[in-house]
Amino acid sequence: MSPVAGRGREVRTSQPHNALGPVGAPRLLAGLDSAITTVGLDQHLERWGRLPALGSASILDELDRSGLRGHGGAWFPVGTKWRSVKRSVTKRPVIVANGAEGEPASGKDRLLLDGLPHLVLDGATVAASALGASRVIVHVPAARIPAIRSAVEERRRFGLDSVDTEIVEAPDRFLAGQESAAVNTINNRNPGRPSFTGTRTVREWGVGARPTLVQNVETLAHVALIARFGSDWFRRVGTPESPGTALLTVTGLWPQPRIIEAPLGLPLQQVLGLSTEDAGIFQGLLLGGYGGGWVPMAEAMVMPLTEEAAREHGSSIGPGVVALLPSQVCSLSEVSRVVSYLESQAAGQCGPCVNGLAGLDHSMETLAFHPSSLRGGTSRILAHCDLIEGRGACRHPDGVTRFVRSALRVFSDHVASHLHRGPCRSRIGPCLPIPTVRRTVRQGRETK
Ligand code: SF4
Repeated sequence: MSPVAGRGREVRTSQPHNALGPVGAPRLLAGLDSAITTVGLDQHLERWGRLPALGSASILDELDRSGLRGHGGAWFPVGTKWRSVKRSVTKRPVIVANGAEGEPASGKDRLLLDGLPHLVLDGATVAASALGASRVIVHVPAARIPAIRSAVEERRRFGLDSVDTEIVEAPDRFLAGQESAAVNTINNRNPGRPSFTGTRTVREWGVGARPTLVQNVETLAHVALIARFGSDWFRRVGTPESPGTALLTVTGLWPQPRIIEAPLGLPLQQVLGLSTEDAGIFQGLLLGGYGGGWVPMAEAMVMPLTEEAAREHGSSIGPGVVALLPSQVCSLSEVSRVVSYLESQAAGQCGPCVNGLAGLDHSMETLAFHPSSLRGGTSRILAHCDLIEGRGACRHPDGVTRFVRSALRVFSDHVASHLHRGPCRSRIGPCLPIPTVRRTVRQGRETK
């Protein structure tokens, strides 16, 4: 089975499907045309039919059997998550379809929201009915609101959903999609910043103090198909441990990033369609985005696309970002730019972020551009990572240290070259996408 690729934000898929569901890998993207014109309600119903009326127990059982996990970043089993919201019900829960997609290198949620909004909204409807929710909220960046608003209005006119859907704008921040940050935005309290959750999670105490299910939009789109075609169909692609497909945003392989849908469990070399010779022009592969980790090319090529394999390599599939770094680029300047961006995105609430990330940013910048001034070499950077890890109220600092540690490991030759011969003179780049961040003065020094 081969993955399905598109150019830039475009995808081109024409996979056969029938009443028993799409055959093969393109599932979510099956039939989406190359221009990503929004699939309207008529076309959506013609393609997929209406959602079947499923009881709560039966959809929860199907989700358990399907083995679907969350595609927002954590890869947590969806059936377990939904059951925990249902268990904690003292009030009717709230469903949040989370399309905030703060990760700069990811574009798959944007593709779904613009092209296939009804698949996402179907998944939210299934969740609302399974959990007896009182509200459904779609949490998306400003640019996605027109497409989703028009889809919500279409469904309203058609009388499709029993629970009305609201739309809340997600701030343009890296952490906006973190589940407590999404809840804070919706509650209009400390928007886009994670909370100190203590022992209570948003599943118990979330939007309006109600139990809240925050589920990524790709996950909800998979739910919409499982509700129609069942768990056995879902498991026809992928491996028994990692069933189904995943949307990946691939950067660095083609002139523009592409979004592809790939079966889980397939070796990355096959997913990317790379020959061994082509793989040799890259110095490393970043999996999971800026909270993920770098993997050496030789290992990445044989690594199956599963969360377990990614974790064994010190990474994660995360939100499905795959970035390849060409050999002629200065990897350390790329890593430094990303760390600087991540430092600027910290919420500034806990010590590891306020002090730790600023220090790490400074050390990586020194290693990249003024290595002779780096006191203590990489051991000092690693000791700094030790001090930060596990100390934040959210996982942001841990994501940054994973990114840094993996870079020091995978680019160790380049690190040695900087330390012994000085910064390299490569003028190629920048390669990894970083949004423009307002220049601010913080703690007496300027951040980019
Ligand atoms: S660890 Fe950082 S990003 Fe997370 S809550 Fe604390 S200050 Fe905010």
